[in-house]
Amino acid sequence: MRHLVTILALLGAAQPLAGQARPGRLDSILLAGPDTASARRHSVALASRVHVAGTAAQDSTAAYVQRQMAAMGLDTSSVSFTVFLPAPEAVSVTRLKPTRKELQLSEPVIPGDESTRQPAWPTVNGYAGSGEASGRVVYVNYGLLDDYRVLDSLGVSVRGAIVVARYGRSHRGIKAREAERHGAVALILYSDPADDGSGRGAVFPEGPWRPASGVQRGSVKLSPGDPSTPGWASTEGAQRVALAEMDIPKIPVIPMGYGNATELLTGLDGLAAPAAWTGGLPITYKIGGGGAVTVQVSVRLQEGRNAYKRITNTFAAIPGSTWPGEVIIIGAHRDAWGPGAWDNISGTVSVLEAARAWSEAARAGIRPRRTIIFATWDAEEWGLVGSTEFAESREGDLRRSMVAYLNQDAIASGRSFGSSATPTMRDMVRRAARLVPAPGGAGSIYHAWRTEGRTPAGEEPRMGNLGGGSDFAGFYNHLGIPAAEWGFGGGQGIYHSHYDDLQYMDRFGDPGYLSHQASARVSALVLAELAQSDVVPFDHRALADEIVRLSATARDSALKLGMVGAPWERLAAEATALRAAGDTFATRSARAARFDVERLGRINEESRQAERSLARPEGLNGRPWYRNLLYAADRDNGYADVPLPGIAEALRDKDAGRLSFEVADLAQRVADVRGRVSAAAALLR
Ligand SMILES: [Zn+2]
Repeated sequence: MRHLVTILALLGAAQPLAGQARPGRLDSILLAGPDTASARRHSVALASRVHVAGTAAQDSTAAYVQRQMAAMGLDTSSVSFTVFLPAPEAVSVTRLKPTRKELQLSEPVIPGDESTRQPAWPTVNGYAGSGEASGRVVYVNYGLLDDYRVLDSLGVSVRGAIVVARYGRSHRGIKAREAERHGAVALILYSDPADDGSGRGAVFPEGPWRPASGVQRGSVKLSPGDPSTPGWASTEGAQRVALAEMDIPKIPVIPMGYGNATELLTGLDGLAAPAAWTGGLPITYKIGGGGAVTVQVSVRLQEGRNAYKRITNTFAAIPGSTWPGEVIIIGAHRDAWGPGAWDNISGTVSVLEAARAWSEAARAGIRPRRTIIFATWDAEEWGLVGSTEFAESREGDLRRSMVAYLNQDAIASGRSFGSSATPTMRDMVRRAARLVPAPGGAGSIYHAWRTEGRTPAGEEPRMGNLGGGSDFAGFYNHLGIPAAEWGFGGGQGIYHSHYDDLQYMDRFGDPGYLSHQASARVSALVLAELAQSDVVPFDHRALADEIVRLSATARDSALKLGMVGAPWERLAAEATALRAAGDTFATRSARAARFDVERLGRINEESRQAERSLARPEGLNGRPWYRNLLYAADRDNGYADVPLPGIAEALRDKDAGRLSFEVADLAQRVADVRGRVSAAAALLR
């Protein structure tokens, strides 16, 4: 096992080596590589046990991945961090009124599904507060800012109450933050059957949707990374902030299924809930608050040194034959809240199978020209901890050397393809999707994607933006490195429950492991474009078009709000100039074969650094970790993405001074992007 220092020494290797063109047979080797039987074997090996970050079972998954990668002939290494990760020791919820009843929180064994016999992870949300609380129950709908506005208008206070919120419409961390801000003493989160349960279809084990006892665990921390080292890496000897200073909730937060939630929501007094607050339970939804239903909750977490755990990211590299110092990383988180066959052994398996395809190419004599690193991350489920600490600890190297980051998270819960990508990489994903057969269908993924999405002629299938919520955030939102992700979706009511297991995967998520195979094939092919092309085909025109479109919309909003004076014309002019430079770059890229590897190295250096200019070192106003000014997670939602977040947040705050600054700052950064693209185009002359 090579230490990462050796592999990452490649990040600094400047000397290009003799090159080789991308042979036509590479695509066929990469398509043939990912194998359904092998994928299922990995899945069985990795998803048979509950493997939450910080546990011995999770250490075993690291060892397994390393053994597999080493057997393929890859250079393996790992990087560990010690992070704050307090495991729950006890949790209880007892209804006191109208009648006393202690709720059975754990998920029952399902006859015929052996996996469900093993002990489940306690039903406490990650990074919830520790302690006891009791009080009257108030139903707060989704627990969004708007929901508390409605409660205010109705004269209902949650101060001193235990609030019950349904999952959905926001990251659960927002629900915890708002409950605490409004004075609630504890938060209970439940999965409403209308969301991912019986309201959607047959429930597990008869179907893929959530049974009444299925519990969605999950972190309630909003800032990415280890909360004891906000903004810096959890290396040995790193300065740590005290528990009281960490940006995590102080109140207990407990998730439950809709069976238990019924016990608390039935019999509520007070006002009838607004029509929009009615979920799928067969009850009359009321707001409560009068004390007809009261409840006591208790959460005990590990404390002191016991709350700190060692987590491990794994790496396996194929050094580039021509430009070893140019690095592409594809990664998946390895940790889960249960067996995690879907979230995220499916992504881990996709990375393993993509690695196998590339190792077979290497055996056939076709090495990647740029370095490819196959990574698995730890503690993503607690809030992107492993990948964030890695990105924070290697910031300079990664910004200098990385070409792109590819992410695989929960990639097989059905057959419907979906992808999110930075604008410069969208075409690469579409091209790969054209070459890969649709899992279980006829024609290519691209064809099925168009058809299912009813894509109008002349348009491309819809793709998402990268706001946050998975391991690309450290690379894309923090460092400005181009990134993309994809996978196949379907019924997924086992999300973050004890039932996300092999039986779910075999029967509903991905029978035959065809979606695992297809996602790995797409990965292998996108890696091929990034690793083999003389000039990496970043589509700078698409970035310019996106900025033109988004800034026009933002400008309209500003005018409607009567906010004038921001230099919109300058921003539009810079984006238009970037469009022109992108055009020149794309046209001249066709001539790449004329240039030697040293010249190509300089061209690619300029091109891959271009997008980084959109990352502002000081970050967003009030959220310094989020540096990328193209997309960020919505500060009041956590999952939704916000385009041009610096500008959008100034608009939301109706701060005309900051708006002018943000528009001017973005214009300058777009000019910097254009400078890099023009330099690359000039070198192609
Ligand atoms: Zn995940």
